[in-house]
Order: sequence, then structure tokens, then C-alpha cells
Amino acid sequence: MNIIKSIDEMKQWVATVRIAGETISFVPTMGFLHQGHLSLLDEGRKRGDKLVLSIFVNPTQFGQGEDFEDYPRGLEQDSQLAQQAGVDVIFAPEAKQMYPSGYATYVDVEGITNTLCGTSRPGHFRGVCTVVSKLFNIVQPHNAIFGSKDFQQLAVIKRMTLDLNLPVEIIGMPIFREADGLAMSSRNVYLSPDQRKQALVLSRSLQRAKEMVSSGETGCDVIIRQLKMLIEQQPDARIDYIQICHQLTLEDQTHVDADSVLLLAVYVGKPRLIDNGFLQAES
Ligand code: AMP
Repeated sequence: MNIIKSIDEMKQWVATVRIAGETISFVPTMGFLHQGHLSLLDEGRKRGDKLVLSIFVNPTQFGQGEDFEDYPRGLEQDSQLAQQAGVDVIFAPEAKQMYPSGYATYVDVEGITNTLCGTSRPGHFRGVCTVVSKLFNIVQPHNAIFGSKDFQQLAVIKRMTLDLNLPVEIIGMPIFREADGLAMSSRNVYLSPDQRKQALVLSRSLQRAKEMVSSGETGCDVIIRQLKMLIEQQPDARIDYIQICHQLTLEDQTHVDADSVLLLAVYVGKPRLIDNGFLQAES
């Protein structure tokens, strides 16, 4: 497995692979890998001849006062996990290569970025779309695999890829959870043992909402009010948002239907955790 830090070197590798007629799967991440990331790599391995993992803590997607400096990093352990997962290349550029002095171009997706994380993290998706476009141009993958834990991000990337006619197939993968239900996240390391227990309130909220729906409740306000009470019982929990949205438009709904997704963002102590799930049982 190669670790490539230079954009030119990465492009040369891609050219050689493409000339040989091989396909490239791509998993973009910010590193500090967990099993959620590994599930994306497994899928990538199946879908392409070559597998590229990028590890880049992208400064442009963090707002002021967010955790860019503190974001957990661990390239050595990531390399071992990546090797075991069958990664061919880790692309890990420096920020100054990606954004050299004079850098001035950004990609903005309108509409679906004006809600949920787009509201509480202004500029976040502009940073995400910019870096993903750049990475697509450098890695030139045939497919790219994203987790639906970041439900809105996946929707925004699909929109951007369609709108800009990017020749990449976007694959969404299910949320990978700890045995007790907590969605895996690199940011879970910030949780104290007590907050780790409190953080279960996110997956429990999803469960509660699904139960309410299966017993006949369809009013989004009623469900959201219940969840608010449940979450506020946790001493270190602070709600950023609880919304029930249409899976494609991400517009708020008043009544639950087959397209309804519950999306949550909750601070538990320091980290801001997100989770989501469809509300109606699949028939
Ligand atoms: P990150 O490094 O956290 O920015 O995430 C990189 C990719 O891994 C994104 O596509 C995430 O949606 C995905 N991912 C993160 N956590 C999980 C998880 N628990 N299950 C599945 N995919 C995940």
C-alpha cells in the first residue's frame, strides 16, 4: 500500500491505473478510522479494481470555534487498518497543497444546504463540496462511497455530482453502529464514560420515534416534542436540531410518510453528534 501526499504523484498513479483499463473506487474521509469507515472500504474493494482512501482534515469545512485543531488524527493506525482493508493508496495531502496561497474557488450547492447542518454550520457544505470536487478531480474515481450517517452530506454530494455532470457514481452505505446502538464517529473519542452512556439518547430517540409511528402517530410536531423531552433528560445533552424531513428535498414535513427521515444533531458535552433514520418500517 502506498501513502501519497503529493497531488502530482497521485495524478500519475491514477493515469497509470486508468491506462491499464482498471477501475478506481474512492472513499474520502478525515481519518481516525473506525468500523463505519471500514464498511465503506469493504464496499469500495468489491466495486473497483483499485481502492483509494483519502485522509484529509479539510479546514474549509470547519467554522470558527469548531474543532478543526482538535479533530482526532492518527495516520499510523489508519495506515494499518487501511492496509488490512485492502486499500491500494492512501492519499493524504497537506492543507497547503490543497489550498495554496491565492486559492479562490469554491463549490456551492443551493437549496438542500439551507437546512439542518447547513443552518447550524454555515459554510460547512461549501467546504465539503469544494474539497470533494477537488478530490474527484485528482483521484478520478469511477465510484465514490459515502456513509448515510451524514445523510445531508450524501444528498448534497449526489446533487453536486448530478448538477456538475461529474463522471462518478455515488454510493450510499448504511450507518454502522456500536453494539448498543451509538452511531460510530471519530468524534465519539471526546465523550467521557458517562457522556458515552448519555449519547445513547440519539439512537434511543430514533427507536422511540419509530415506535410512535408504528403505533399510529403521524404528527411530526408530536414526535419531535416527545424526543425533545427525552433528550433534555440527559444532563450533558444540548439539542442542535431535531427535524423530520423528506428524504430527497430535505424539507420539513408535517406528517410522517414513507419518505420521512428523522435527523438529529445533539451536543453531548463537547462533541456534536448526529444520527438519522427512516421512520416508517419498510413494507
Ligand atoms: P468522516 O471521516 O467522519 O468525515 O467520514 C468519512 C465517511 O465515512 C463519510 O462518508 C461518512 O458518512 C462515513 N461514516 C462516518 N461514520 C460512519 C458510520 N458510523 N457508518 C457509516 N459511514 C460512516
